[in-house]
Amino acid sequence: MYDLLLKKAKLFGQSQGVFDVGIKGEKIACVGCELDEDAGWVVELDGKLVIPGFVDLHTHLEKTLTAHLVHNNSGTLEEAIGNFQEFLLGISPEDIYKRARRAAEMAISQGTTAIRSHITVDPRIGLETIRSVLTVKRDLQKVVNIQVVAFPAQDPTGIKQEQLDLLRQAVSEGADLIGGCPTLDADYRRFTDLLFKLGTELDVDIDFHVDETDEPNVEALEYLAEKTITQEYQGRVTAGHLCSLSAVSDEVAERVIRKVREAELNVVTLPSANLFLMGRGDKQPIRRGVTRVRDLVEGGVSVSYASDNVRDPFRPFGNADLLEEALLTAQIVQMGSPAELERILAMGTYNPAKAMKLPGYGLTSGCYADMVVLSATSPHEAIVSQAVKEMVFHRGKLIVTNSRQTQELWKGIQ
Ligand SMILES: [Zn+2]
Repeated sequence: MYDLLLKKAKLFGQSQGVFDVGIKGEKIACVGCELDEDAGWVVELDGKLVIPGFVDLHTHLEKTLTAHLVHNNSGTLEEAIGNFQEFLLGISPEDIYKRARRAAEMAISQGTTAIRSHITVDPRIGLETIRSVLTVKRDLQKVVNIQVVAFPAQDPTGIKQEQLDLLRQAVSEGADLIGGCPTLDADYRRFTDLLFKLGTELDVDIDFHVDETDEPNVEALEYLAEKTITQEYQGRVTAGHLCSLSAVSDEVAERVIRKVREAELNVVTLPSANLFLMGRGDKQPIRRGVTRVRDLVEGGVSVSYASDNVRDPFRPFGNADLLEEALLTAQIVQMGSPAELERILAMGTYNPAKAMKLPGYGLTSGCYADMVVLSATSPHEAIVSQAVKEMVFHRGKLIVTNSRQTQELWKGIQ
């Protein structure tokens, strides 16, 4: 007997037909054409689209919802970083916990069932910030899978041993990965080498912010790809932003994208944040900083999008909603056919799940029942109509319902 039976579901990845999905406990037990086993609860979907939960691969939970507290008058990345680091010195661990938890809850309500978050580790505050977020991770583990990246505060004079020691300590206390911004360090090679030395020693994956600048210089990305190959860390490294890749020549981009694929880097584009932050020194035309998504995808690279900053000094907008990011990405990178929109939807689900190495992710028998029922019948319609995430399931349990109602009262007016 199933605990839950979804009847006549359109499944993301199956272009034809509708399927019944039987769930037992935390997992999908069977996917078939007409399952007739008894079930504790039967939900008739009438062809509605079911997707595996959204996976937000690049967030900053400790920064979310601070836009009203931390200003950014110039709108630049540099001012946002400086002002937020100062702000962090004056707030309590309880305050960080409260906001990070609210940020994760916002994402859950939007159908996100896994989140990776970069959390600042700073010698001036020690590990207080990351400890607060690790507590959120533990407290919400029954409804969302959170991975925490220990993210060293940028030091333009070069990363120090003290900072590396803190990263090591953060991992021993539960951080899943290490990260950082090689491009914003005094020496990107030294930074990359030191972080790889630590990452390989601790046997953790690495997730860098790379080339979040307007400059046509992709040396840091190229070095990261080469380092990943020589260290045999293929598939274990994620590279976010890659804004500079959009500023270099096609020839340079082609060469570097080949290396990125060879290194099996998981690429994350953060279009909403970069559209807001980049090109602040430009007059028209303004460089917008969104990386070459189409070229990367066509070059065989696994690309994801993520929400990055939500209502903080880096970007005052956002709802932690990956379907919103899907529409934005599709429009910016000019991918609009039904087949392309299917690839776009995978960039917020299957691709980031692969980067996070989520076990049992998907919609086949044996996978965890982390699923979203959408008010649409195809990926194309889901993105274009910004479908309602009607039901969100985590490990087989219904954890969120959403609805959107329109009453066309004008029809009664004569
Ligand atoms: Zn970021």
